[in-house]
Amino acid sequence: MAGYEIDNATIRQLAEELGIDGIGVTTAEPFAELEEQLTNYRDLGHESGFEHPVIQERIDPRQTWPNAQSIIAIAMGYRTEQYVGAKKPAGLRGQMSVYAWGMDYHQVLKQKLDQLGKRLQELLGRPIEIYNTVDTGPLVDRAVAQRCGIGWLGKNCSIITDTHGSWVFLGQLVTDISIEPNVPSPPPQCGDCPDLCLKACPTKALVNPFMTDSSKCLSYITQMKGFVPEQYRAKLGRRLWGCDTCQVVCPKNKDVAFGTAIEFDPEPEYAFPDLMRLLDLSNKQFRREYGTSAAAWRGVKVMQRNAIIALGNMRETQAIARLLELLSQDERPEIRGTIAWALKKIDPDATREAVAHAYEVEEHAEAKQEMAWAIEDPA
Ligand code: SF4
Ligand code: SF4
Repeated sequence: MAGYEIDNATIRQLAEELGIDGIGVTTAEPFAELEEQLTNYRDLGHESGFEHPVIQERIDPRQTWPNAQSIIAIAMGYRTEQYVGAKKPAGLRGQMSVYAWGMDYHQVLKQKLDQLGKRLQELLGRPIEIYNTVDTGPLVDRAVAQRCGIGWLGKNCSIITDTHGSWVFLGQLVTDISIEPNVPSPPPQCGDCPDLCLKACPTKALVNPFMTDSSKCLSYITQMKGFVPEQYRAKLGRRLWGCDTCQVVCPKNKDVAFGTAIEFDPEPEYAFPDLMRLLDLSNKQFRREYGTSAAAWRGVKVMQRNAIIALGNMRETQAIARLLELLSQDERPEIRGTIAWALKKIDPDATREAVAHAYEVEEHAEAKQEMAWAIEDPA
């Protein structure tokens, strides 16, 4: 460990003490190889808009933290043992991505990183600079994880760990102390897998191996504001938040270990929200009921819009009466317009007259356009 203030074995021991499933270290040297890739990705228009806007800050840790010496990456498995027995409760239910079945990972990983930082300070017996990021930092978390030896990049753009597959959350701790780095993970190990993820993607968002067009990815689409473009609505099925398809089909995700954090044990109402109940929640009620879920940050409107699409895709006649009430009462155009779409999917004949009435009084252009489509006779 010549020249390092902390050796790698100590870091692994701390991870074990703190219940961190995977840990690795790299230097704070720039990720120069990413510059071309990120620029290309932006030029192709594949960004979702959630990315950090300054490419130089994404590739060079010292642009943000001038004294940075080392980066510790952590991985926490989110499919716990309870995942296997998780059952859908009775009623009309939507489906959340598995990562949102338990408590918000931002809080859980942040807590682990805070504890880790505290332990490092105790070990050195002096204050040190520590910056924790989970999702919201400038760095490309997958590139950091790869260089820290946490896992390799799959063609589905997920980091795949040896222990937990790609069912992991990633977090980082940047510090001004020098820590013995890990050997980086190997290059992609997809081997002879016949691109199962690319073939299974419902929207062909995996445009090439290792390249997602985020604007087509259902995970992004469930989180976008406004109207969901019509071509993606049927593809959403019952999805309310996120999409697991390219992970579910991946053979590297079979027979992997369960995560150890009980915070990620599935909460049935988070995993399979009651669609009709969701429609009636105020923003305040939503925050109270779903506030500790990773899907809560966008607020209730996006979730209600997705619930309406799910009811449309499920052709749920039980939902018609409530949808008609909301069509005439709801103040939000995305909700009124999406309801018109859903009603046509569920029962166009029974609902055409009511939608035509709503069309007459509708003032919002996009909502009106949805209603116009809904009252057209089928071609
Ligand atoms: S998350 Fe879903 S939509 Fe996005 S790339 Fe994977 S399979 Fe495709
Ligand atoms: S499904 Fe196959 S090609 Fe896709 S990430 Fe997994 S191993 Fe790689």
